[in-house]
Amino acid sequence: MQLDAMYQEIILDHYRNPHNKGLRDPHNAEAHHINPTCGDEVTLRVALTPSNGNGIDGSATISDISYDSMGCSISQASASVMTDLLIGRTVDEAMRTADAFTELMHSKGQGEPDEDVLEDAAAFVGVSKYPARIKCALLAWMAWKDATAQSLDKEKEGAS
Ligand code: ZN
Repeated sequence: MQLDAMYQEIILDHYRNPHNKGLRDPHNAEAHHINPTCGDEVTLRVALTPSNGNGIDGSATISDISYDSMGCSISQASASVMTDLLIGRTVDEAMRTADAFTELMHSKGQGEPDEDVLEDAAAFVGVSKYPARIKCALLAWMAWKDATAQSLDKEKEGAS
């Protein structure tokens, strides 16, 4: 099927030429996640810029995401695609995108990805048919959620 071939090409492209790979500063928080069943690892950093002195909350802009990683093509490509999608968004927007991607990964191959929302991440719809690979696709997204939650917590501690 032509669509599958196109999606496969997108994944391979990101795997061969990952975007935003290599840890960068400044960053607000860092998270290290592993997927032991496949041997995938990611260390991921987020940098957030508060909107109008609001502090770091859901309206903060994701000014940077950088990462270092090793593992299978699915996990590596997913990290690259995610950084492209989320950098420049607000935390709230990015959380909605992450929820849409997580939902797609749990769709058992039945999901119909909204390409307007998910862009290249829509290419992972075929992965949702393979339970063992879903964690590969979600690894970087989990690390991003973790690092973002840490950034928000730090802000709360600082304010109290
Ligand atoms: Zn993997």
